[in-house]
Amino acid sequence: MRILLIRPKPHKETIGLQNVMICEPLELEYVSAYLSKHGHDVTIVDKILERKSVAHFVKKYKPDMVGLTGYISHVNVIKKYAEEIKKVNKDIIVCVGGVHAEVCPEDFSHECIDYVLKANALDAFLGIADNRIDMTNILEKEKSQTFCYPFPDREKVKKYRKKYYYMFHRNCTLIKTSFGCPYNCSFCFCREITDNKYFARSVEDIINELKTIKEEEVYIVDDNFLFNANRLNHFCDMLEKENIKKRYLVYGRADFIAENEEVVKRLKDNGLRAVIVGLESCDDKMLEGYNKKSNSKINEKAVAILKKHNIECYGTFILGIDWDREDFKKLKEWIKKLGITFVNLQPFTPLPGTDMYDLYKDKLIVKREEYEKWDMAHLVVRPTKISVRKYYLYTILLYYSTMVNPKKSIYMIKKYGLMDTLKLSIGAFKVNMQYLKKFLKG
Ligand code: SF4
Repeated sequence: MRILLIRPKPHKETIGLQNVMICEPLELEYVSAYLSKHGHDVTIVDKILERKSVAHFVKKYKPDMVGLTGYISHVNVIKKYAEEIKKVNKDIIVCVGGVHAEVCPEDFSHECIDYVLKANALDAFLGIADNRIDMTNILEKEKSQTFCYPFPDREKVKKYRKKYYYMFHRNCTLIKTSFGCPYNCSFCFCREITDNKYFARSVEDIINELKTIKEEEVYIVDDNFLFNANRLNHFCDMLEKENIKKRYLVYGRADFIAENEEVVKRLKDNGLRAVIVGLESCDDKMLEGYNKKSNSKINEKAVAILKKHNIECYGTFILGIDWDREDFKKLKEWIKKLGITFVNLQPFTPLPGTDMYDLYKDKLIVKREEYEKWDMAHLVVRPTKISVRKYYLYTILLYYSTMVNPKKSIYMIKKYGLMDTLKLSIGAFKVNMQYLKKFLKG
C-alpha cells in the first residue's frame, strides 16, 4: 500500500512553541519503519515545514491511506486535513493516531476520519494497511506494555533534518527510552497515555539505536528519564564502553536530581547538557495539591545541583488559577533568587482525559471544541481572583522580568553564541506577541 503520514501544522490560534522549537515527528518515523518493514511504501510530510497544501501532497503521492497525528491543539486542523484528503479522493483511508487520539478518541469522530487508533497504534495501523483488522480490535485492545519495534525511520525526514531544533539544541534528534511515568501528578496527561503504567527499554537496545544516530544533539523525550539510578549508571557505563559522545537534553524530576547528585554528575560527564524540570511551583501547598511528591526545598536543591555542574535547567511552572498579583510576584522573586535562566509558564490546564478535567469542566472559559486553544499557554479556566486580561498581563510581565535582562542576554550570548541567542529571542518575541494579543482582547 502507498501510505502518506502527515504531521500537522499548529492552528494560527495556538500559542506557538514552534517559535522556539521544531522537533522531528518521532511517532511517524516509528510508523514508517514498521510499515516499511512489512512491505508498504511510506512517505512523511512535515506540514510545519512545508508551505504547500495537504491536497498538493495527496495529489503528488497518490496514497491509498493517510495517517495523521497530533496533540489536542491539532484536533480541528486534523479534521480539516481529513476533509481535504477525502475531497481529492474519497476512497483514501484516513487514520488518526497520537497521544490525544489514545486518550480521547471521541474527539476525532468525523465523517472524513475512518479510523482512530486508541491503543497499540503501530500494530493497529499495520492491521488496517494489511486489511486484516476490525474497529473493535483497534479500540478495545488492552495497551501493550512492551515495545519491540524497529528503530524510527529517520531517513524519511532527512530533508527536514537541518531545521529541527529545540531552543539552543540545533539539528537535534529525538529518542524514546521509556514509556509512561511511575508518578501520579494530578494534572499530568502523560500517564493517561499508558494507562498509568511505566515500562523502560533495555539500555543495550538504546545504545544500539544511539549508534545509528549521526547527530550530536539528542533529545531524550521520555516523560521522566531521570528515574532509576541503576539504569542511568548502566547507561553511562555503556556510553563509556562504546565511546559514544553526544549531548543530551532530558526530562527529569527535581527530587531525583536532589537525591542523586553523583548520577547527575556522571551523566554530565557523558554529555548531559540540559534538563527540563517540572518545578511547577515555589509553594509547598500547591505542590502537595498537585500530588507532586516534592517541595520547594527539593526544587531549590535540584536547581543548585544543576547549576553547580553547569547543566542548563529549563524550569516549567504551573500558574495557579486562584493567583493574584502577589502570587505572580512571589514566583518572580523565587525564580530570580534561584537564577533560573529559562522558564516555561503554563496556566493551570485541566486537560480532557485527566481527573482534573471533570473537576473543572464547569469553570471553563474555552470550550473543549476550541481545541487549538488547549495549548498549555491559553487560559482555559476562569481565574478566581483577577480578570483574564490581568492574568495574561501578569504572565507576560513574569516572562519579561525573569528572562529578559542584560545579565541573562550576556550569559546566553557567551554560552550559546550571538546568532542562536538572536534566533531564540525572535522566537520568544513572537510568542509574547501572541500573549499580548490575548491581553488586549481580554
Ligand atoms: S513526574 Fe512528570 S511525567 Fe510523571 S506524572 Fe508527574 S508531571 Fe507527569
